[in-house]
Amino acid sequence: MEKVAITINGRVCDGYRDQSVLNLARENGIYIPALCYHPELISSGGSCRVCLVEAHQGGRMRLVTSCNYPVRKGLEIKTDTDLVKKIRRGVLELLLSRVPDSDVIRDMAAMDGITETRFFKDEGKDSRGKCIACALCTLVCEEVVGVCAISMLNRGRDKTPGTPYHKSSNACIGCGACAYVCPTGAISLVDEGGTRTIWDKKFSMIKCSVCGIPHIPEVQADWIVKTTGKDRSFFDKCPDHR
Ligand code: SF4
Repeated sequence: MEKVAITINGRVCDGYRDQSVLNLARENGIYIPALCYHPELISSGGSCRVCLVEAHQGGRMRLVTSCNYPVRKGLEIKTDTDLVKKIRRGVLELLLSRVPDSDVIRDMAAMDGITETRFFKDEGKDSRGKCIACALCTLVCEEVVGVCAISMLNRGRDKTPGTPYHKSSNACIGCGACAYVCPTGAISLVDEGGTRTIWDKKFSMIKCSVCGIPHIPEVQADWIVKTTGKDRSFFDKCPDHR
């Protein structure tokens, strides 16, 4: 990997070519808010617009999403100018109007001094809960888990992830990766009495033979056995007792 140094807020940061600006900033302890980015997902990022920064290069300035903007020689990044702050506040106000129930968005907005939004609040019976339609859940299901049990449904303000026809999905293995990566906690996952419920589907869990705690859905274990050749007895014990 080719090493490249850029400046972020006047500080020289050593990174490598094609590393995302957001990733490099985080490595150097520089805060840039972000929602739809996950370092493990190849195609994540760019949709929430919260991570906008100024990118200066060759005498030109562009506003870019730092989560998918590549580190290049001679790049100068500014994360805290008046312009960046003004645009980010607008983006946060829009998100606040879209998902007023989300603690994550409210806390992020409050860090920029925003507690109210000028825009129409999407609440009441037509509310989509905490979902910002970033599609991280569908990406992890496809790219990491490899089952494509969910996809983005509808368009515009009604865009939201879900199973085909909102019916219980045969493809879903109940792994919970989608709920894990969701930046706003919009996906409900409940583990109770040895059963996991997610996307309106119930999964029986395997109990650890040592501590008795349910630790993985039977269907997920079967799927891992089928796709990796791992011995099913591997799942007799939870990760803490293997
Ligand atoms: S729980 Fe189902 S929908 Fe979510 S990532 Fe796992 S397989 Fe996909």
